[in-house]
Amino acid sequence: MTRAFDAIVIGAGQAGPALAVRLAKAGKSVAVIERKLFGGTCVNTGCMPTKTLVASAYAAHLARNAAAYGVRIGGKVAMDMPALKARQNRVVMNARHGVETWLKDTPGVTVIEGHAQFEGPDEVRVGPEMLTAPQIFLNVGGRAVVPEMPGVHDVAYLTNTSLLALDVLPRHLVVVGGSYIGLEFAQMYRRFGAEVTIVEKGPRLIAREDPEVSDAIKAILEAEGIQIRLNAECISFHPRGEDIGVGVTCLEGEPEVPGSHVLLAVGRKPNTDDLGLDKAGVALDARGYVTVDDQLRTSAPGVWAMGDCNGRGAFTHTAYNDYEIVAANLLDDDPRKVSDRLTAYALYIDPPLGRVGMTEAEVRASGRKALVGTRPMTRVGRAVEKGETQGFMKVLVDAETRQILGASILGTSGDEAIHGILDIMYAKAPYSVIQRAVHIHPTVSELIPTVLGELSPLEPSS
Ligand SMILES: Cc1cc2nc3c(=O)[nH]c(=O)nc-3n(C[C@H](O)[C@H](O)[C@H](O)COP(=O)(O)OP(=O)(O)OC[C@H]3O[C@@H](n4cnc5c(N)ncnc54)[C@H](O)[C@@H]3O)c2cc1C
Repeated sequence: MTRAFDAIVIGAGQAGPALAVRLAKAGKSVAVIERKLFGGTCVNTGCMPTKTLVASAYAAHLARNAAAYGVRIGGKVAMDMPALKARQNRVVMNARHGVETWLKDTPGVTVIEGHAQFEGPDEVRVGPEMLTAPQIFLNVGGRAVVPEMPGVHDVAYLTNTSLLALDVLPRHLVVVGGSYIGLEFAQMYRRFGAEVTIVEKGPRLIAREDPEVSDAIKAILEAEGIQIRLNAECISFHPRGEDIGVGVTCLEGEPEVPGSHVLLAVGRKPNTDDLGLDKAGVALDARGYVTVDDQLRTSAPGVWAMGDCNGRGAFTHTAYNDYEIVAANLLDDDPRKVSDRLTAYALYIDPPLGRVGMTEAEVRASGRKALVGTRPMTRVGRAVEKGETQGFMKVLVDAETRQILGASILGTSGDEAIHGILDIMYAKAPYSVIQRAVHIHPTVSELIPTVLGELSPLEPSS
């Protein structure tokens, strides 16, 4: 038997549920298919559990450093891993349950649990059941890459999903991959009390950022006792009794790091290989992402792709914005498009990195004349008062249009303060608008006008 709907949404991640509810409220019959956990990666194995743990790690860090604030804590600061994990699970379960009941309680939405696969351009199979609809929306997300490095299948490696399920403290966590996800886990587990080593095959951490950002973050992590092995040309894995030896280098230094646990954090790939997309005529790019146009239409008429699976973003806010774009085009006669979006994200180590727009390397590559302003957090009053003076802020401005091209705020509240810059960039207003807004004292944001008042030409690189 085939069930007919007006629309089918595959995946209940960050875009699918909101779109399903919006379509149902517009009078359409909508099937939502979810094969695993409602809320997808962000809710269950991504943003929410990690940021909950980052908060626990911050509490531990503050407690350890309490004396510097004139606070005396009797005895040694210790982690209660089951309590910490219970807190994580409460936050996750509450959000997961919220998404599930939201969908199940919305009239017009039919929730089907199982793995969806195309059988034809407008036909989807879930187990024995066939569904059909003239409009199908993919929101299938992605998963951690398990790299084919020598020995990887001989050891019990962890991914973000399995590490989040672990309720014991690793003695020595080796994090393979010095990028966003790896760095967040590295710092939180160090603060929980584990020995931590980051193994990165490139010459610096988070290579997409400017070198000074990478260097500052390396210093922040090393100051907390995290070992960092860069240029790890020969990453390999070896069972060593109860431990795992992670081969790092064939050239210099200790060739192997002995870990009790290994986290693979070397990237993610889209869940597009088991969807039967060929049967629907949905094209993929060379890396397996669904090819979409500026309004998220795929190569198959009547099929859209939203969120991480389209390769146009890798964040919850970009997935949700994909929903907004699709809904605006289909329901509001509002031609919103992906290219209107600015690159913006945060790295949630402590202190966090807030980022928007171009890096300095990108500005230089664009050949524009630019101005730059920087300020260390040691000269930001609020940071001094909080005793959190690591990091710096940096803003790049187009010398001709006076518009802001990009910014990095690595420092306390950097993830929040960046939004003032993001908003002015989105408004395409000149930087002088921020200078005239009177910011609140004492905040990190209040120093942004000061940085903009001290711009100097971006000198050619030597
Ligand atoms: C450790 C970690 C930390 C992160 N932290 C942040 C952060 O702080 N901020 C941020 O913005 N982003 C963060 N991200 C990224 C963020 O989680 C993702 O960008 C976001 O979840 C993408 O949402 P999505 O809707 O595209 O897909 P997902 O949330 O992955 O949802 C896809 C859903 O589709 C389902 N599905 C897949 N295939 C099928 C199928 N064939 N049939 C039925 N169902 C299917 C899956 O089960 C899943 O529920 C983090 C990611 C990780 C891994």
